[in-house]
Amino acid sequence: AAEEGFDIEDVEGAIEAAGHGPLPVLAVVGRPNVGKSTLVNRMIGRREAVVEDRPGVTRDRVTYEAEWAGRRFKVVDTGGWEQDVLGIDASVAAQAEYAIEAADAVVFVVDAKVGATDTDEAVVRLLRKAGKPVVLCANKVDGPSGEADAAYLWNLGLGEPHPVSALHGRGTGDMLDAVLEVLPDAPEQSFGTAIGGPRRIALIGRPNVGKSSLLNKVAGEERVVVNELAGTTRDPVDEMIELGGRTWKFVDTAGIRKRVHLQQGADYYASLRTAAAVEKAEVAVILIDASENISVQDQRIVTMAVEAGRALVLAFNKWDTLDEERRYYLEREIETELGQVAWAPRVNVSARTGRHMEKLVPAIETALAGWETRVPTGRLNAFLGELVSAHPHPIRGGKQPRILFGTQAGTKPPRFVLFASGFIEAGYRRFIERRLREEFGFEGTPIHISVRVRE
Ligand code: GDP
Ligand code: GDP
Repeated sequence: AAEEGFDIEDVEGAIEAAGHGPLPVLAVVGRPNVGKSTLVNRMIGRREAVVEDRPGVTRDRVTYEAEWAGRRFKVVDTGGWEQDVLGIDASVAAQAEYAIEAADAVVFVVDAKVGATDTDEAVVRLLRKAGKPVVLCANKVDGPSGEADAAYLWNLGLGEPHPVSALHGRGTGDMLDAVLEVLPDAPEQSFGTAIGGPRRIALIGRPNVGKSSLLNKVAGEERVVVNELAGTTRDPVDEMIELGGRTWKFVDTAGIRKRVHLQQGADYYASLRTAAAVEKAEVAVILIDASENISVQDQRIVTMAVEAGRALVLAFNKWDTLDEERRYYLEREIETELGQVAWAPRVNVSARTGRHMEKLVPAIETALAGWETRVPTGRLNAFLGELVSAHPHPIRGGKQPRILFGTQAGTKPPRFVLFASGFIEAGYRRFIERRLREEFGFEGTPIHISVRVRE
């Protein structure tokens, strides 16, 4: 590194930064209008969250990356959901439940000016049941005179209320310090620690693509009936299912089966459920209805899984309904609409007839293997050396930027840091990614490549 002009500490720092494992998840929950989205905006330091959206506009994005005091984490914002036909208590509780389930810690936001309402109390009960660490945010304390309002919230029994003005930033730093104290460094369901334990699968896809049908098929019909008869007892959130001689944990199957008929907010609810399931899983099986055109919503779900860095399998369902013409057009559509994940293994299934169910497990195993692949540094640099001399970066402004060396900083998904003598253009980065995939496989996994340029 030194002879290439990089400081050894820079190199180590870059590798550490790129190699971080999955980030812990913080959920921000509370009633509508208490200031959740305003608070999330402060945490992520950008005006990217929901505040500027018009009411009623569907929001797909529910998780954001945040950083405080040098630590990075994910924030799940539940602020995008309009009150709906379930009534306010039920809707707040339902969204909080999903968010809490996927979270490692929770910020519970209460409007200190209003004080604790019945809805707030309902959320407190959920929080107690979940047993996750909670930081109580007494929001809208815009000045010292509001501190007394905050103190009333001791009554909720969640410990110290942190007086905050999400709008002006007052007290948010102290509150975030308190959050970092209770937030674990890595997600609870830490990857890699469960050696030999069941791998975690999220079965996701837009409504009506056949998720519950597929789940019923793989879990066996009888068990489902039993669950339904049980009536009052809730489904377990996750379900262990035997497939291909192994036990797998399908995460958040209760969310798939729960039949929620909502008008407003249904899409947001589905997005939140999808994001929560993806966070908890190692591999996402994205179900797509092959009988219909691939939609923007399908693509968003794909993007969600890719951005979360999960292993990925594409399952095209309802294959039993396809005629030759549809099959022809589907192939074209997959090329144009899903080109970004051309690396994902694909299965064509029918939850109705059971067609190709046996191909699901090999596809999942392939994706997980790609996700965990580690390329030894020696091999990587031999490959990079050859690549760079055979296909040098185009000359720009009389100079030729070069990749000098690289290393794989992490897995799950694979993360690479490349060190370069000058700015590397996007096209060349994509070229490197393509060649890395050709050389080392990485089937079914996104890969991250970050480039450090010598000063
Ligand atoms: P959410 O529905 O919980 O996500 O709430 P929003 O973040 O959309 O905020 C609801 C309203 O409360 C908006 O008009 C915000 O500007 C306002 N608000 C949020 N935080 C504060 C605060 O700390 N002080 C005051 N005075 N208003 C706030
Ligand atoms: P979910 O909303 O994704 O859980 O979808 P469901 O499992 O409820 O399925 C939606 C509809 O598609 C139901 O009417 C199913 O019977 C139907 N369906 C599911 N899988 C298949 C399939 O493989 N073939 C056909 N023809 N219909 C299917």
